[in-house]
Amino acid sequence: MIRIRRRDTAAVAALGSMVLVLFWLFGELGLLETVVAIATIAALSTFYYLTISTTLNPLPKNRSARDRGDVDPDESLRAKIMLENLPIPVLLIGAGGRIEIANPAARDFLGLGAVTGHLSAVLRQPQVLEAVSAALRGQAVDPVEYSMMAPVESHVRAFVAPLASRDEPALPWRAMLVLSDETSIKRADRMRADFLANASHELRTPLASLAGFIETLRGHAKDDPEARDRFLAIMFDQTERMQRLINDLLSLSRVEMDEHVPPSGLADVSGIIDDVVDVLRPQLAEKSITLDIVPAAASSVAAVGDRDQLLEVVMNLVENAIKYSDAGAGIALEVTTDLSRDQAERPGLILGEGASRLTLAAPAYEAGDRFVAIRVRDSGKGIERRNLPRLSERFYRVDGQKSGPREGTGLGLAIVKHIVNRHRGGFTVESLPGSGSVFSVFLPISKRQIKASETSIG
Ligand code: ADP
Repeated sequence: MIRIRRRDTAAVAALGSMVLVLFWLFGELGLLETVVAIATIAALSTFYYLTISTTLNPLPKNRSARDRGDVDPDESLRAKIMLENLPIPVLLIGAGGRIEIANPAARDFLGLGAVTGHLSAVLRQPQVLEAVSAALRGQAVDPVEYSMMAPVESHVRAFVAPLASRDEPALPWRAMLVLSDETSIKRADRMRADFLANASHELRTPLASLAGFIETLRGHAKDDPEARDRFLAIMFDQTERMQRLINDLLSLSRVEMDEHVPPSGLADVSGIIDDVVDVLRPQLAEKSITLDIVPAAASSVAAVGDRDQLLEVVMNLVENAIKYSDAGAGIALEVTTDLSRDQAERPGLILGEGASRLTLAAPAYEAGDRFVAIRVRDSGKGIERRNLPRLSERFYRVDGQKSGPREGTGLGLAIVKHIVNRHRGGFTVESLPGSGSVFSVFLPISKRQIKASETSIG
């Protein structure tokens, strides 16, 4: 800018001087007047030249950036601290899609190591990469949404903006990428819709039958005490089942809601098993079923997990074993720790030749992970091979299977599967019709625990 003004000033002065020289040549002006006029123009131009130089570029070039007031280091430090602590992933992408800056939230979100490479190597979302390319060409772009179904479902909205260099406009554009995790919002919306649809569908039949019984009790059964007692007992069972249904649906919604956020605490598996036995003692006694607990090698086994949810898992599996076993049968609850993924998922057929096994949920493979397996084995009727794949579907119940007075809701194994998924664990079933079933859940054990056992072995 300053250079342009200087050039214009010199041009105007030169032009003016030339016109004066022409007037002198054609005899319109005397030599003295011409010289005085040119000297005046030269003096005015010099004055103007110096004035713009000092007003537009007041400090000499060799002064520091701070003195010139271009960059305030305190301000840029504050901005850096804010960026580091921002819980939202923010990235600055440079020419060619190279990641120049990624705040810690972005590093966590994209699983970036210390070395940052190209965005396309860590985010394989064509729409986002296209938006970033457009921003790198200086174009404004609309937010882009993308979803991933594995390893866990997640929904993200990406905001991309082109950034020009403030100090040096000639430098190429950069792109700012902000990733907003909208999984919880999307899930909450879907859970609400699913809950309402499932609850209204599943409650319609028992409610209609309750209304029917009430009608009968007010009508021809009014004076029949025997029929009245029978109907009231059925109505009581129906009401209890509706309560169980609502509880299971709420539980399933809660689990699904935070399935994408793995638990970070530790849960003591032995303590969980003690609590399950205490709660289920009356049901065991009611059917005279014995529960044999095979302890783990270590007296206390900790899994990475949410205690309440893991309690729900073990409770559902043992309750099923009780429900689908005959009176007087035996159930075994076995805990084995420090297993490789293969040992945990495929331990060899427990029920022997002819049994079928199926993995209902499997963790993403991470080298070196060790697992604790909890296996619940019963000697009930077992489940035919063709029914195994559908076991963890919500509301699925094997045809013709009787579960006694506490009729199931078909949601127990769906809840188990979602909890196991959240824990990045695995869930398998093995069954042999006529012999029984083994339901196994395996969960990652804490890295700290593995280290401790390695040290003690060494
Ligand atoms: P429910 O509340 O009906 O028990 P679940 O989701 O827990 O629902 O189980 C789904 C179906 O799987 C059950 O209805 C039953 O048919 C079958 N099932 C579950 N556990 C066992 C078991 N231990 N033995 C035989 N069948 C089982």
